[in-house]
Amino acid sequence: MALVSERLGRLPRPPRRKRRAGRGARALLLSARAIPTLRLISQISMSLLSLWIGVRFYLFVSGLERNDPDVSLSLRSPGVEAYLPISGLIGLKHWVLTGRLNGVHPAATLFLLGAIGTGLLLKKGFCGWICPIGFASENLGTLGMRLLKRPRPLRVPPVLDYPLRSLKYLLLAFFLWAILVQMDIGELQAFIEGPYNRVADIKMLKFFTEMSSTTAKVLLALLALSLLVPNFWCRYLCPYGALLGALSRLSPAKVTRDEKRCINCGLCAKACPAALPVDKSFRVRSDECNGCLECVAACPIPRALDVRIGKRRRVHPFLFAALVMIVFFAFPFGGRLARRWEPDISLHEYRQHVQNLHLPIYQHNRGRPVAPAEQGGSASDYAEQQLLQRPR
Ligand code: SF4
Ligand code: SF4
Repeated sequence: MALVSERLGRLPRPPRRKRRAGRGARALLLSARAIPTLRLISQISMSLLSLWIGVRFYLFVSGLERNDPDVSLSLRSPGVEAYLPISGLIGLKHWVLTGRLNGVHPAATLFLLGAIGTGLLLKKGFCGWICPIGFASENLGTLGMRLLKRPRPLRVPPVLDYPLRSLKYLLLAFFLWAILVQMDIGELQAFIEGPYNRVADIKMLKFFTEMSSTTAKVLLALLALSLLVPNFWCRYLCPYGALLGALSRLSPAKVTRDEKRCINCGLCAKACPAALPVDKSFRVRSDECNGCLECVAACPIPRALDVRIGKRRRVHPFLFAALVMIVFFAFPFGGRLARRWEPDISLHEYRQHVQNLHLPIYQHNRGRPVAPAEQGGSASDYAEQQLLQRPR
């Protein structure tokens, strides 16, 4: 909680003003200053929800591994598919080409659509208000400042910052090229129905619960860098954030400064976790803006800094936050209402997969069938793959 209070406490105090603001303006200011608290509540809630889904999924998989007869499919929430963006993107392309939402990981595609929707309409509001990894990344930076007793975050010099920021776009370009350009309908279908994708959620869990020494070293390095440089993962490496950042350029809602009201105090720029020069911008167009609205909360002058659609129409900060939630969850809830939310993988099939997870057919192969000679697979492995790939 110390980190949390520090984060709230980091909000700069407004300078004393000679004239008392009117009641309406005071109320507005009060509400704007509540943004960091509201955002914190949102981020903590989303992180706890993720944790709850993750723990239940762990219990589900470990129950299957023990061959526990009491294990129930209800332990596996489709919410776990929010962490399968590749499967979601493949499912999205497949949906566009066939008009049919796949039944293996439909929620992965619905979550991706929700995030894309927020990017297109509300900047990177998903990163600033929902993403648990973004929340962890932010707080690691704050923790690092405390541990290293630094009064302000370490900023990477621009000469390094720009090339490093392009890394996440390179990763994104690779995934977009491999999926949107390279994969034809046959490969998409084969990947979606293939054994690897059917267990992609379990593979993701194993990535953390049975991590290799290389993975552990990479994660430790990322942890150390996140302590040193705030938002290291989000700013330099996250391809999901890169996708939303690119889309956010099209967002009609942007932080907008009223140059007539602004007193050039610089508090907005000081509060910005993305280190954007808000006090020098008329509209914040940067793909690094995560819509956190910390700058709006820090601004001491009513209506000097707001989210606006176009140049004029003001969006109340609380409405902006609500819209981020509504747009992101609209697709998963819509899928749930339309009964296209649960995967078509039965408990029996999950049992089979978990017991055979060591087989080469569960390796990533972009959906191509695994011939016996490939990847050391045996003839019986191949036969089992064919069995598992049968339409059900
Ligand atoms: S410009 Fe404002 S909304 Fe955008 S990242 Fe900075 S503080 Fe958050
Ligand atoms: S918009 Fe202007 S008045 Fe508001 S915090 Fe930024 S510099 Fe200060």
